Amino acid sequence: MTAVVYTDEYKEHDTGMHVENQGRVKAIMHVLTQSDLIGKENIYQPEQATEEDILRVHTSEYVEYIRKFCQKGGGNIDFDTVASAGSYETAKLAVGGAIKAAELVLDGHDSAYSVGRPPGHHATRDRAMGFCIFNNLAITLEYLREIKKIKRFLIFDFDVHYGNGTAEIFYEDPDVMYISIHQEPRTLFPGIGNINNMGNEEGEGMNLCIPMPRASNGHDYRYILEKILQTVALSFAPEFYLVDVGFDGHRDDPLSGILLDDEFFKWIGVEMMDLAQSLTLILEGGYDLDTLASCNVELIHGLENYKTLKEEYEHNKESIDRTQVHQETRVIYECLKEIFSPYFDI
Ligand SMILES: [Zn+2]
Repeated sequence: MTAVVYTDEYKEHDTGMHVENQGRVKAIMHVLTQSDLIGKENIYQPEQATEEDILRVHTSEYVEYIRKFCQKGGGNIDFDTVASAGSYETAKLAVGGAIKAAELVLDGHDSAYSVGRPPGHHATRDRAMGFCIFNNLAITLEYLREIKKIKRFLIFDFDVHYGNGTAEIFYEDPDVMYISIHQEPRTLFPGIGNINNMGNEEGEGMNLCIPMPRASNGHDYRYILEKILQTVALSFAPEFYLVDVGFDGHRDDPLSGILLDDEFFKWIGVEMMDLAQSLTLILEGGYDLDTLASCNVELIHGLENYKTLKEEYEHNKESIDRTQVHQETRVIYECLKEIFSPYFDI
């Protein structure tokens, strides 16, 4: 059964009327606890990450800046990222939630899902941005590397925005493969994340961006991911899988122009579990509350029942409709194939 890590204390990151607010995680937890998918015994409380954990990724100057900023009552860190008096402590709790999810997987859960906030994947080593303060996933990865001695990681990020913070932190790291599918950056924050952002130095070829045009749908996503995910993952052979989960690519989400439907989130749960067998999932974006509710049910359903659902998908009961795959999507795949074929057998 999927373990979920959550606490009501996340409300102390009080963003007021901001689109990233406590209503998001409440909507998710409400639907998961109402459904039969998550029993109360599978909900775990996070503990705050230590400063030592956070400093494996962020600079001490930056951590101190955030602490003092919140101590003074908070406000706008940049034009779209806000903090309140409680945000420093809450951000540490969100990191701790992500670490806890990874530990639950190491303890034998097939999958564990940190339903925390603030989100993290835009936060760089020394900068908050895009609603993110500390990079929950990157800090978890460094914890696993140093404390648990895990060496090779694959990160898959299907939030509709490119996780520029996570990508930058591991950009020259040969042991961390980062794959992100997102709305192409000319039309969406953070304005980078093109195919040629492919990693550097030792990490060259280890940063794989799949930039999707506006109006791409679930068929487009599946067309590319079916060809890329398994091939790259099997070739890279990670020891540990981390997934950045975002629901803002849904057609009803107010922040993007991607047109995924609920079904996609079940499919991706199935696909990733079938590939990895064990998954640590960390919540990033998703801003329409009804969508968050319905798509989280789909995702957990996919994680829980991946074996039977995979068979159904393979027998074409719910296969992608290739007539709905845009020509641009085929072009993107051909580009990816050309650029990444020196690194992977794609
Ligand atoms: Zn996002």
